[in-house]
Amino acid sequence: MRLPQASPEEVDIALVGVPFDGGTTNRPGPRHGPRELRNQSSLMRRVHHVTGLSPYDVARIADCGDAPVNPIDLMDSLAKIEGFFDGIRHAGALPLAAGGDHLVSLPILRGLVKDSPVGMIHFDAHTDTYDSFFGDNRYTHGTPFRRAIEEGLLDPRRVIQIGLRGAISDATNYDWAREAGIRLLFIEEFTDRGVKDVMAEARALVGDRPTYVSFDIDVIDPSQAPGTGTPEIGGVSTREAQQMVRLLDGLNIIGADVVEVSPPFDPSGLTALTGATIMFELLCVLAGRFR
Ligand code: MN
Ligand code: MN
Repeated sequence: MRLPQASPEEVDIALVGVPFDGGTTNRPGPRHGPRELRNQSSLMRRVHHVTGLSPYDVARIADCGDAPVNPIDLMDSLAKIEGFFDGIRHAGALPLAAGGDHLVSLPILRGLVKDSPVGMIHFDAHTDTYDSFFGDNRYTHGTPFRRAIEEGLLDPRRVIQIGLRGAISDATNYDWAREAGIRLLFIEEFTDRGVKDVMAEARALVGDRPTYVSFDIDVIDPSQAPGTGTPEIGGVSTREAQQMVRLLDGLNIIGADVVEVSPPFDPSGLTALTGATIMFELLCVLAGRFR
């Protein structure tokens, strides 16, 4: 966003990167997401064309750098990322993070949530509530929200997942999430009901209590966001994604992320541009809290 660098103590909203993709099960690359999101975000302008809000006029915002990671040690990376976001919480700043694969949402939540579990509005083609992959590996980009619920970081009855689709490995794949009480909203229902109706339900579900927002770029159709590790055709459009994010305005959001932008699969830079634009939309929503 062409912002100055600063420490979290100096800002209301901290833009940060999490350059880690050690939780990826197939096509890696989102460790390079923060770098390319920064690059494409230099195209963002200052004033939102619908609301007229200039986030930089109502809140102190800066680029607070990247979370430290250890690319050859997953558990050490989780600890380092958690510590970084714990520091942001201590500083009193709201984080807007650029991943990274979706596993990074787990240490972010560990760093941000210290009292009671929070709600979450989650845009994704996938639930990311699996138990394990490749044996007993419980920390992957397909498992973060199962762990977050088990650890008491998320209240599953205040979690909604929007945009789910694609063939699954086993007919029972969604059972755990359903039984936990998560609201699973598949793309077919989204198409039938439309953006406003779906977001009205999402807003009612999380209410005015603390809520995290997680945006997996693969919720968007791969024709418009091809550069990601686990593409699923039949997704939402970039325009629908923008409309949905705008309808988060006024919620009690404690932080947000945009994850799974994978530059090695994004030769045109389109996916990173899309991710950076969604980050600007989220930034306007977060800044709206400081008006
Ligand atoms: Mn995901
Ligand atoms: Mn996904």
